[in-house]
Amino acid sequence: MRKIDQALDGQRKVMPLQHLAEEFFRLINPKTKKGKFKKKESVIGRLKGRIKGHSKLPARFYEGLLDEGNNFEMLRQIVTSSPFEMEQRVMPEIEQLQHSSGFSWTKAFRKEIITTLGYPLIRKNYTNWLVDRLGIKACPYCGTQYILGFSSQKEKKVLCELDHFFPKEEYPYLCISFYNLVPSCSACNRLKSSGGTSLASYPHPYIDDLNMMFTFKTNPAGVIRSIIAQRKNIPITLEPMGTNTRKIDNHLKRFRLAEVYPNHSDVAEEIYWKKYVYNKSRKRELTKLFNGKLGLTQKEVDRFIIGNYTADEDLLKRPLAKLTKDIAREIKLIP
Ligand SMILES: [Zn+2]
Repeated sequence: MRKIDQALDGQRKVMPLQHLAEEFFRLINPKTKKGKFKKKESVIGRLKGRIKGHSKLPARFYEGLLDEGNNFEMLRQIVTSSPFEMEQRVMPEIEQLQHSSGFSWTKAFRKEIITTLGYPLIRKNYTNWLVDRLGIKACPYCGTQYILGFSSQKEKKVLCELDHFFPKEEYPYLCISFYNLVPSCSACNRLKSSGGTSLASYPHPYIDDLNMMFTFKTNPAGVIRSIIAQRKNIPITLEPMGTNTRKIDNHLKRFRLAEVYPNHSDVAEEIYWKKYVYNKSRKRELTKLFNGKLGLTQKEVDRFIIGNYTADEDLLKRPLAKLTKDIAREIKLIP
């Protein structure tokens, strides 16, 4: 659980997330060899087709979305805008467009927009790509589940879900917006459902750092050895940090994290065992062995000891990484 503000380029080098958003726009708008947008496979091609075959009112709306005369600027904004820009600029502009086009948002029309923009196809073809290029393997909402997929020449299997931070039922035109697509586990996607959301009330995994917004505590009292010997459940609590506690409270409640995490009391127990085993001299020994013979960094030695990633930037590479890191820090197993 950390802010996802970077991505990996084709060579697995780190690049700004915005570059991936722009790459996404190009990918979902493939061209023919002659340089024209493909009719069915590209969003632009599909929108053009819809404008041709539509009656007057929605055609005007689709023309506004496409913004062909302005080098597709509106569509580009819809796909690549940051979450703030979506709230502050894209949403009011689309509302205005809808108003001036003179029709109302019916349920059927919302559905039609989602199909025309090609969300089902994009979900199938780009979810694995997105997860891979974000370089994450754990659900950014809860941090307890793997989000993985695989693709071979024969089949593409998507094993995680795509959550729309701004629900697609309410904002159908944001159904293919890069920053609105959050790979998540099915439990979180279900818990979130289409409930109302805004950046002021809920953290967004691409712009808010959950790692800095709350911390896991076990509040150890007494000597580690005697706590281990008592064989009691180690209680796990979540403490909000910083000033915007309402926002983090909303997140914890929505995904039921205060109820979910105490189930991992056994993981906390193992960190306590490790604290007992890895005293200062044993840790020094390990560091010498790993640094000298294998060239591992201190962070990697810590990862070996904890059995999970410990660096803040790696907290979405494996489930429960924030839990194990926070507890290991709390009981001073790692600095
Ligand atoms: Zn989740």
